[in-house]
Amino acid sequence: MKTIIITIFVSIFCIPLHAQVQKPKYIFLCIGDGMGQVQTQVADAYLREQSKDSIPFLYFPHNGFQTTYSLSSKITCSAAAGTALACGVKTKANHIGVDATGLFKLESIATTLKKKGYKIGILTSVSIDHATPAVFYAHDASRSNYHSIAMQLPESQFDFFGGGAFVKPVNGKHNAYAELKKYKYSLITSPDSLQYAAQLKTKVCVFDNHTELSYGIDALNNRMKLSDIMSTAIACVQSPQGFFIMVEGGKIDWACHSNDAATSIGETVEFSKAVDKAIEWYKQYPNETLIIVTADHETGGMGVGAALYPYYTNIGLLANQQSSYVVCEQKITEKINTYGTQFTFDSCMTFLSGMYAIGQNNLQLQAYDSLRLQRAYNFVFSIDDKTNSDDARLLYNLSPSALYTSGNKAQAIVVTMNKILAEKSGIGWTTYAHTGVAVPVYAIGAGSEIFEGTYDNTDIPKKILSLLEITK
Ligand SMILES: [Zn+2]
Repeated sequence: MKTIIITIFVSIFCIPLHAQVQKPKYIFLCIGDGMGQVQTQVADAYLREQSKDSIPFLYFPHNGFQTTYSLSSKITCSAAAGTALACGVKTKANHIGVDATGLFKLESIATTLKKKGYKIGILTSVSIDHATPAVFYAHDASRSNYHSIAMQLPESQFDFFGGGAFVKPVNGKHNAYAELKKYKYSLITSPDSLQYAAQLKTKVCVFDNHTELSYGIDALNNRMKLSDIMSTAIACVQSPQGFFIMVEGGKIDWACHSNDAATSIGETVEFSKAVDKAIEWYKQYPNETLIIVTADHETGGMGVGAALYPYYTNIGLLANQQSSYVVCEQKITEKINTYGTQFTFDSCMTFLSGMYAIGQNNLQLQAYDSLRLQRAYNFVFSIDDKTNSDDARLLYNLSPSALYTSGNKAQAIVVTMNKILAEKSGIGWTTYAHTGVAVPVYAIGAGSEIFEGTYDNTDIPKKILSLLEITK
């Protein structure tokens, strides 16, 4: 008992004792939104099966766990968790860089390091004004105030921003892009121009021409990739004074909200490729670089092991899925709008056979699978449908209001097919929302040993600052 107490004490409070702890000059904080331990493990297993590849950060030498609860709930949102990771303070749901009252601004580690002369880069695969990137530069009691958040970005004077474009750049005569110009930021919006960013010698914003990067599984052309934006960020912020880069894999969360295992793997791999750019830098400067990979929370309650097929897994089966739930839903909606009831259940099954390579790689549908797909189809076309609001929520992740609109009912068919594929791959889900489990921390480099153990999300920025002997 005594040793356990000492170990915990040493791991959290006695950082100063380790005088020989190396002081990082180049710091990477990599946040997989919604990326619990299982999301990473499954992506690693999938890569090993498909391409003899793996997820390198999973094997970093120092591992820990951080608790993610907020002041509103044991199950946090990204804004509260982000504020804890960026500012080291617990707050309420939806709060961006402000305290529980929503009145007091909290200084982020990025702002603190900027004041100390570090160069700062903030990048993500979702919109740059989304919760996780926003907590590093903005302050607002509501994460949905996209315009006010966007207007605060240039005021931060951070050196590099990259990701999806602003959700609400204009409000009346206020325009966030004009604000960027006023603060002398260069704006790059085409993937081909990324290579020139570092030569600009100015503060740089790199935005995809959508408010989010495309899903890795969809492999859309002429779209920016998180790993390319990461290379550009490193090129733009490298400086003898050091730099701090926060990179977010934001759409792991979205894929898991839809219980789409194949798309979640694709996003975890895209995120891992961005982390690989940090590893390349680390290999050049191993004694001065610190890389921390973690999550803000887990999404979906992803598990290895599904109720319908106990003790059975076949992760490789997920390779049958050809596109993300978004693209699949769009295509079904197009068919419904074009053909109406001419888009029969049989033609729907033919469509799904194409999108999921049914019949290949041993993917066969059982009677129970067809029954569930028929039921989802009947729900979409309101054919003697008895689906009530609880069914809609539980079976199709649809809010009760969806019962009365035809629009996004196609989701019912896609959620059902993805659930069937997940079961046959051995993947289970407990929810369409976030969960309250602690999430892993993977660390390598200067001072990384202090990220071992179990602690709270608010401890992450505190540990980084303690390595730099910076007190706020
Ligand atoms: Zn989420």
